[in-house]
Amino acid sequence: MDTDRTILHCDMNGFFASVEMLDHPELIDKPVAVSGDPDHRRGIILAKNEIAKRFGVSTGETIWQAKRKCPKLVLLQSRKGLYSKYSKLANQIYFSYTNKVEPFGIDESWLDVTASAALHGDGKTIADKIRARIKDELKLTVSVGVSFNKVFAKLASDYKKPDATTVFDRNSIESVVYNLPAASMLFVGRSTAAELHKMGISTIGDIAAFPEAPLVAKFGKHGSLMKKYALGLDDSPVADYGSHDPVKSIGNHITFKRDILTYDDLKKGFAIVAQKLSQRMHRKNIQARCIQITIKMSDFTVVNRQTRLKWPTNLSSDLAEAAYKCALTCMRDGAIRMLGISCCDLIAPDSPFQTDLFDKIDTKAVGRENAFFSVKEAFGDSSIMFGSMLDNDLE
Ligand SMILES: [Mg+2]
Repeated sequence: MDTDRTILHCDMNGFFASVEMLDHPELIDKPVAVSGDPDHRRGIILAKNEIAKRFGVSTGETIWQAKRKCPKLVLLQSRKGLYSKYSKLANQIYFSYTNKVEPFGIDESWLDVTASAALHGDGKTIADKIRARIKDELKLTVSVGVSFNKVFAKLASDYKKPDATTVFDRNSIESVVYNLPAASMLFVGRSTAAELHKMGISTIGDIAAFPEAPLVAKFGKHGSLMKKYALGLDDSPVADYGSHDPVKSIGNHITFKRDILTYDDLKKGFAIVAQKLSQRMHRKNIQARCIQITIKMSDFTVVNRQTRLKWPTNLSSDLAEAAYKCALTCMRDGAIRMLGISCCDLIAPDSPFQTDLFDKIDTKAVGRENAFFSVKEAFGDSSIMFGSMLDNDLE
């Protein structure tokens, strides 16, 4: 296995709360939580410090629930700019060890340091150097996982917190990795884990040992991806630093094979446009808070309309529905030859500044689309399609 890569996954510990504590040293001995909007009755807890954690305050619960457990809880409003600043500083430290640095959310990054060994040492040595520098230069802590692929490196960074290095090499697969819960693996969401549990699968080792056919029967291609990951066969590359830079706007438009004549056509037309757009947004790891639709009639007149989305999203179902509803407000009689959707006001999906998202977002749809697009990425564009596209004569 002399061709093994050395992949690091760096995960900053208690990121938002730690950054806030740096900025508020006077609160160091108080229970502190960061929330989207402290005045909003339905705001949620986005992060908490160690003291608040001891009171049982947990991420994702409402401010009201948290205050009941810990009446003296100090609430701070999340500050995206401040977190982005520290995120960038951390990534710059990572970048000094390799140009392959791929951020995954604001407080996590993968690094491929395979080619850095001669200059900086092996994976563990680089991980330890990074931890020391983050502590020294940023006064923050990071957990670093070291392995031979991205999925296992992420598992390793989760294994020990805070401020720890964990190495999962090929010798630790059977003794450690295979005993970890199935749900701890990337892309195994809560509902997938529950389904796996019903099949008698509770650990990563169980997934690896399970025959592929019933996994595929149950989860489609996502089932074989899970098995591939559990077997340690994830070979996805770490992207070059900067290639995930935020884009200002992103859009897609399609001139259809035949004119759009009915509301059903219109709905399907936007679904087709939204799907390709959504796939690119998943790839770039961005969500939109606003869309603009373009409708070109068969007489070549054009209608544009903008609408704000109810919450930031890159789900094709959300984009298609918002576009359709927006179109209904500005429709004219006549045949349509082209539909377009452009997204604006783009953000990274885990930006910490929204309130009460958790009770609005359709997590099932998120899981479904994530699986859908990872299958497309892994097996090609035509490997899977939505059932609603089956009798599509528009494209
Ligand atoms: Mg973290």
